[in-house]
Amino acid sequence: MVCEEKKEKSMEKDILDRIEVLQGDITCLDVDAIVNAANRSLLGGGGVDGAIHRAAGPDLLAECRAIGGCPTGEAKITRGYNLIARHVIHTVGPVYSGKQSDSHLLSQCYANSLQLAIDQGISTIAFPAVSCGVYGYPMKAACKIAVDSTCNVLKDSRSINRVVFVLFSTGDYNIYKDYLSTIAD
Ligand code: ADP
Repeated sequence: MVCEEKKEKSMEKDILDRIEVLQGDITCLDVDAIVNAANRSLLGGGGVDGAIHRAAGPDLLAECRAIGGCPTGEAKITRGYNLIARHVIHTVGPVYSGKQSDSHLLSQCYANSLQLAIDQGISTIAFPAVSCGVYGYPMKAACKIAVDSTCNVLKDSRSINRVVFVLFSTGDYNIYKDYLSTIAD
């Protein structure tokens, strides 16, 4: 019994050791893949999507156009072009409506992005706060979904060794830090 409890605790530490929180601009990160909070057309938009397309250059838009869109909750991968990151994983978060389906779809964004990364042999990945800008998802609820679904994937996969959550504002950064410290206790 004691041994089992110990085993469970050390597994959690192993998961949390692979998660990092940073404040800043996701386009500057040196990781295998950065995740884009895209819209279903994949043809670019504002917020983090606009920043990623500006930094990657026009070839990214051309590759996205060839993909032909992405349903909400799913993920597609492209090259990173002028970005430091080698790839961009485009996922489409739900527009916040207050319905129960929101949390499932947001959770699918993280799970599907990570699964795609695993399938492509990617070991380091950075996420913005998907749906938390123009799409209006409350940050605290979204943070819990992002971290919980990520831990769930990391629990079953050793191939991803670094997941970075990148937040623009100090307030959002603190929400992630606080949540991670509560689940580490
Ligand atoms: P969505 O449409 O999914 O809500 P947004 O791009 O509007 O996506 O916002 C998602 C989150 O990304 C917001 O919290 C916003 O502050 C943040 N954000 C915007 N630009 C950047 C950036 N360059 N790096 C990291 N996060 C960013």
